[in-house]
Amino acid sequence: MEEFRYIDGVATLELNEDLCVGCGICETVCPHNVFAMGRSKVRIVDQDGCMECGACANNCPVSAIGVTPGVGCATYVIKKWWMDLLGKEGPITCC
Ligand code: SF4
Ligand code: SF4
Repeated sequence: MEEFRYIDGVATLELNEDLCVGCGICETVCPHNVFAMGRSKVRIVDQDGCMECGACANNCPVSAIGVTPGVGCATYVIKKWWMDLLGKEGPITCC
């Protein structure tokens, strides 16, 4: 699913590393490999890959993650994926 991406620079995802206890659940549930575990805490490695599905925040045991689910536009993501697949360029409209 990594090829399905939304507009760069708009994801509302935030991580409070001070609260993180390094359980790794967010890394496991994220469908886009946005997180990577370090020695004792997770870090965001692909902020623009976030689709704002909310799975990480809903499963974090210490509420270290903030995200506003539903902001990402599935129509835009699918259209962009389709145009990339066809090698086409041009404006992409959301729903
Ligand atoms: S909101 Fe979804 S896509 Fe974004 S980082 Fe969390 S699990 Fe990954
Ligand atoms: S789910 Fe929360 S506590 Fe666990 S690694 Fe991710 S941010 Fe840290």
